[in-house]
Amino acid sequence: MYKNTIYHIEENILRFKLIAETLDVLEKISSRIQITNILVELFKKTPKEYVDKVVYFLQGQLWPPWKGMPELGLGEKLLIKAISVAMGVPEGKVEELLQKEGDLGKVAEILRKNKPQAQGLAAFIAKQGEEGLTVDKVYSVLARIATATGEGSRDLKIRLLSGLLKEAEPIEARYIIRFVQGAHRVGVGDMTILDALAIAYAGSGVHRPVIERAYNLRADLGLVAKILVEKEIEELQKIKPEIGVPVKPMLAERHNDPKEMLDKVGGQCIVEYKYDGERAQIHKDGDRIIIFSRHLEDITSMYPEVVEAAKSGLKVQKAIVEGEIVAIDPETEEMLPFQILMTRKRKYDIQKAMKEVPVKVFLFDVLLAGDEDLTVKPLPERKKILESIVSENDVIKLAQYTHASTPEELEKFFLKAVSDGAEGVMVKAIHSKSVYQAGNRGWLWIKYKRDYKSEMIDTVDLVVVGAFYGKGRRGGKLSTLLMAAYDPETDTYKTVCKVGTGFTDEEIEKMKETLGPYIIPYKHPRVVSELEPDVWVSPALVAEILGAEITLSPLHVCARGVLRSDAGISIRFPRFIRWRTDKRPEDATTCEELVEMYKMQLKKIVEEAPEKAP
Ligand code: ATP
Repeated sequence: MYKNTIYHIEENILRFKLIAETLDVLEKISSRIQITNILVELFKKTPKEYVDKVVYFLQGQLWPPWKGMPELGLGEKLLIKAISVAMGVPEGKVEELLQKEGDLGKVAEILRKNKPQAQGLAAFIAKQGEEGLTVDKVYSVLARIATATGEGSRDLKIRLLSGLLKEAEPIEARYIIRFVQGAHRVGVGDMTILDALAIAYAGSGVHRPVIERAYNLRADLGLVAKILVEKEIEELQKIKPEIGVPVKPMLAERHNDPKEMLDKVGGQCIVEYKYDGERAQIHKDGDRIIIFSRHLEDITSMYPEVVEAAKSGLKVQKAIVEGEIVAIDPETEEMLPFQILMTRKRKYDIQKAMKEVPVKVFLFDVLLAGDEDLTVKPLPERKKILESIVSENDVIKLAQYTHASTPEELEKFFLKAVSDGAEGVMVKAIHSKSVYQAGNRGWLWIKYKRDYKSEMIDTVDLVVVGAFYGKGRRGGKLSTLLMAAYDPETDTYKTVCKVGTGFTDEEIEKMKETLGPYIIPYKHPRVVSELEPDVWVSPALVAEILGAEITLSPLHVCARGVLRSDAGISIRFPRFIRWRTDKRPEDATTCEELVEMYKMQLKKIVEEAPEKAP
């Protein structure tokens, strides 16, 4: 595939063209095996010192989002300006081409083809001794663009970007523009990158679980790749959580039958309040406190009282604990729902917000205490350690739980939790294998919520992969979304349903703006769909959807062949509930989860009305 290009495989040089050409090939294929092979080839050509940057480029980012550093994602106007300066054409011409091509990356590529970069004596002299754009150079210029702030930064960004485009070959120009447009324009799934790293650097897929575990414990794939190439697999095997680097949270399956939940966890369990707030992973090193969200964002500045309370409430020098931050009614001290906590997030005056919406944090787990990695310990041991290192105060509390071994005990505690304002309970395994499964959803934790009473037992979180224009009152407006579930097996997004209800008029008005940065003129290679929407959308935005029931449908490809060979899973009467900006597309409901939900729903129907069962 690279036969037309001569690469200078000199030590310490990695040409950006190799990345651009790889992404170009990846754009045209969707077989995970093929993608993996191409990435393995790329990694094999990558000098050790650049592996982290290559990984970030593949992820479509410059650094992990939790670092709190600005992300790329420049507005269209600024990009048009930079392209026009770089290619020496009027902005109107760039806009005209954009109308035709529908993709600024393509526009930059075409214009570059029409105007080769080596022009004039100055350019000739500038290019002496250079081998074209290197990964290092592109990375450092993009990093400067991302971090430029304040007065004059707009002009600086244009200057830097146009400078880069001037040096770029056509295909490089396309991908430079895609990067600066925003994270999700390019981007290979993390799981596929992990596969390729395992083959390229650890010899085969055998070590894949070690690499994945390392990534779950330290949510920075560039860093993990660097340790792998520099220190080999043994070093990764020893990896443990580190203060300041978020651990990917352990997640729960859902169920609604106490007896079956007990069976799933081995007959005995801890039943714990499921608090209705925001998940918080609190890192402490002396007086340094960092709080990460469920989505691994640094939310420390939002909760100054939690920071203060954690300094004294956690009695060890170093720890990583997890809990749920919940809004509290200042008068009655009762717990308030998640929506109230969110009103606090929208307030700018944090001191005022602290008074109006005070919070408490209910700790339920510990991942590190001192230097000891506790993720490998069973839950009862972790609970014991948590209780020994926490000194409760006004803000820091331990989550309420009890032990249960019968459905009656479980149900009784569930009712108590709900009447206390909790969302339900978490049923947690306590056997010898009940470790903290970072980044994994499994049956060691099961959520049992009070709203599992409607036909569809829970909302689902689906990813937008396309959109349709409406008719009548909504004519000309993107008002129906094509939604997909995540399939981790193939690292793709498979369609489940079309959603056209539940949006407010305002949301419809804003839809073009909301989807805008992600609209692409082709089906994203990681999307599997048999429907052709009016516009395709890169998998990036997650929405919470509730429907009347989960059904089978020949139109959709999610879990096709799992329950019936000719039908996939779909949702009847789907309704948009809200955007889940805290979730990445890979956090969306999976095809497998939908199959589980379908089976649970079927069982419920059979139990409630046997004669009506399908
Ligand atoms: P998920 O996090 O499972 O993808 P979600 O974000 O929609 O889904 P829920 O389905 O409501 O959240 O349930 C899981 C969340 O419940 C956890 O991420 C955590 O924030 C919260 N939670 C509340 N109480 C507990 C508890 N005692 N133990 C674990 N998690 C809890």
